[in-house]
Amino acid sequence: MTGDSHGPFGLVLLDPKARTGAPSDDGFRERLADWLLFMVPMFIAEQRHATADEIDRARSDALEQIASHGDDLQFGGRYQSSSRTALAKGFAVLARAEGGVTALGVHACTAPHPYCPGERATTPDLCETMK
Ligand SMILES: [Zn+2]
Repeated sequence: MTGDSHGPFGLVLLDPKARTGAPSDDGFRERLADWLLFMVPMFIAEQRHATADEIDRARSDALEQIASHGDDLQFGGRYQSSSRTALAKGFAVLARAEGGVTALGVHACTAPHPYCPGERATTPDLCETMK
């Protein structure tokens, strides 16, 4: 781990630009985002000392699980739990990439980068203040 990282749990937060609360929204996205906020930091910590081969294997396993049982992830079913776990592990793998990952209303990264939504809390958004 480098000195300029976000620490053992990375930075995982709700994407402030994510849209939720649509009339047809049953709360699924918010519940999934809340679940990811809880689980992704643990998988980032778990993968912290992983080798490149272990990360490749985690990526492949998550991809296969989500591709095979993504419907269970969204609508429930026999593989819902394992699919959601695979999604969180996939987020943890993608958080290692430069710029992290932003999807499903959640942003995760393991090191500071330009345009990080986590930086907006401390840096004024000039576009927003000009309105
Ligand atoms: Zn970030």
